[in-house]
Amino acid sequence: MGDGTNLLILMFSSEPFPPYSPPAMADHFIHESKAHFWRGQDWPGKQGVDYKSGSAVIEVEAENHLVQLADGKNIAYDRLVIATGSRLYAPVEGAELPGVYNFKSLSAAQNLVERVKSGEAQQALIIGAGFIGMEIALLLRKLGVAVTQVEMTEQVMPAMLDMDTAQLTLKFMQQRGIDLRLNTKAVAFIGDDKAEGVRLESGENLYADVLVAATGVRPNLEFLEGSGIAHGWGITVDEYLRTNLADIYAAGDLVEVPDLLTGETYVHAIFLNAVEQGNVAGLNILGIDNRYEGAHRMNSLKHLDLPIMAAGLKTGDQVLQTRRDGSLRTVYLQENRVVGFQMVGDIKAAGVLRGLMNRQQNVSSFKDRLLDTTFGQGTITPWV
Ligand SMILES: Cc1cc2nc3c(=O)[nH]c(=O)nc-3n(C[C@H](O)[C@H](O)[C@H](O)COP(=O)(O)OP(=O)(O)OC[C@H]3O[C@@H](n4cnc5c(N)ncnc54)[C@H](O)[C@@H]3O)c2cc1C
Repeated sequence: MGDGTNLLILMFSSEPFPPYSPPAMADHFIHESKAHFWRGQDWPGKQGVDYKSGSAVIEVEAENHLVQLADGKNIAYDRLVIATGSRLYAPVEGAELPGVYNFKSLSAAQNLVERVKSGEAQQALIIGAGFIGMEIALLLRKLGVAVTQVEMTEQVMPAMLDMDTAQLTLKFMQQRGIDLRLNTKAVAFIGDDKAEGVRLESGENLYADVLVAATGVRPNLEFLEGSGIAHGWGITVDEYLRTNLADIYAAGDLVEVPDLLTGETYVHAIFLNAVEQGNVAGLNILGIDNRYEGAHRMNSLKHLDLPIMAAGLKTGDQVLQTRRDGSLRTVYLQENRVVGFQMVGDIKAAGVLRGLMNRQQNVSSFKDRLLDTTFGQGTITPWV
């Protein structure tokens, strides 16, 4: 493989777009920004990558070093990276009915926003109040739709937020006019040829013009069936992001990798991790050995006027917390090291805290400053 100078890189995407960033989709639909094409629409060409959009890979024949495309073509490879991401996971009866929208890909998001902008959808019902569900709720409110959102657990964003942060976030959502109902589980989409509402566990039915499932994500692995690539919920990889089969690597929302803080191995499905893993897999393919250290546990909402940032754990032997001007920040320490933090309303200084957490630096000498929004900004102490 050498230094990569004469490398032929082929990249296939089942979607009809240049590579894009899902976190920037909401911004795109509100401001018509092109920020979702974060590297530029001409990125593949500039990088010398032969990018084939609208080309789904339907099979991997590892023993012959071939992949098969949906149009029947076979493509040979020396090294293969599987980075097919994840898609909606909706363990709700009837989720496959027409009329159930999601926001997991640009194509799916476009369908949803087109329906809303057509003027036919005045009332939306969103199932799930995880990060993606919250983003959809805020976006639809901005587009002038009345939003009801149901969440089966007792708080919003249960995977990442602690209860205090979740409660304030809920208040912000309600202030924006979102009818968010906790402890409310949807068990089925109802309708004959088309979904028209959901049945709740309580037996109550809710109806809306537009129904959106935001119930979780699962790795896109179906096309690997029979390939021999080992996987559980996600693909099993080693520290070089190699799968169990020769010359096949995997990266992004579909790999099971260790958590940097806890060592626990699972699918992280976070943008920053996917990008880092792409770099690591790329270097290893070139024969430049690069170990993947582990994944960050974090998530954030920066757009849509509701800044939220949550990283690391939501437990520790010391908890620092402050409420200021309607915002809340909480830092979790374990043996004087930052192991997690949460912010809502104001996420200033999040980067500094993340740096301390990643380095596992002892903060005992300055922990009284960790809650300052200006923490980490340069200060000059004059000598007296
Ligand atoms: C609305 C939304 C908001 C998000 N916000 C955040 C955020 O604020 N912060 C954060 O850290 N993360 C966020 N995420 C998660 C983040 O987008 C993902 O972690 C990241 O995009 C994963 O990158 P990836 O390349 O692994 O997968 P993806 O970005 O999903 O890319 C996979 C690509 O592979 C294509 N594909 C799938 N199967 C095939 C096939 N068989 N053949 C060819 N192509 C195929 C897909 O169509 C897709 O284009 C958000 C996600 C969504 C949907």
